[in-house]
Amino acid sequence: MEDLKVFIEYQTRRTSSGRIIEGVIHLKISNLISKEEQQLHIEKLKKKLVQKIKWAKQYYQFHEDKGIVYGDQELRRLANTINAAYYNLPLEDIAFHKQESTWGTCSTKTRRIYISSRLIGAPMDLLWYVVSHELCHLAVAAHDEKFWSLVAKACPTFKECRKKLKAYGYQ
Ligand SMILES: [Zn+2]
Repeated sequence: MEDLKVFIEYQTRRTSSGRIIEGVIHLKISNLISKEEQQLHIEKLKKKLVQKIKWAKQYYQFHEDKGIVYGDQELRRLANTINAAYYNLPLEDIAFHKQESTWGTCSTKTRRIYISSRLIGAPMDLLWYVVSHELCHLAVAAHDEKFWSLVAKACPTFKECRKKLKAYGYQ
């Protein structure tokens, strides 16, 4: 994997945790568990945080390149960026569409995604989340555990995004 710096601290707690501080992974690992379990915790947290860093890099790269999404062409570029990086699912097309009751729709039959035109010019993290969400429906229909773990691949902060999206809808 990438040459990322990792700092490990041991703590007298049952649980382990980790976070990224200025691009460096900081882990707090339980010292109440076996060596093997500790190694497992380290690997699991590292993997999760590396994914988060990878996501952030791509996110900002796109953000800097294109800024705000104002049309179908930029929307397609965003969807292709996310799809190529995380899913590789066959997608026929994606476009904005006038829809009031939903943020996005996805047809597994035609493999077309429509995004509500209310999201034209919306903050990038919201659009990123909605596009990721609809892309995942190409693979999983239900909003089950499998679905959300798939969404988390491209959008680790999807829970915050859902809240922000709700607030955005009330505007
Ligand atoms: Zn959905």
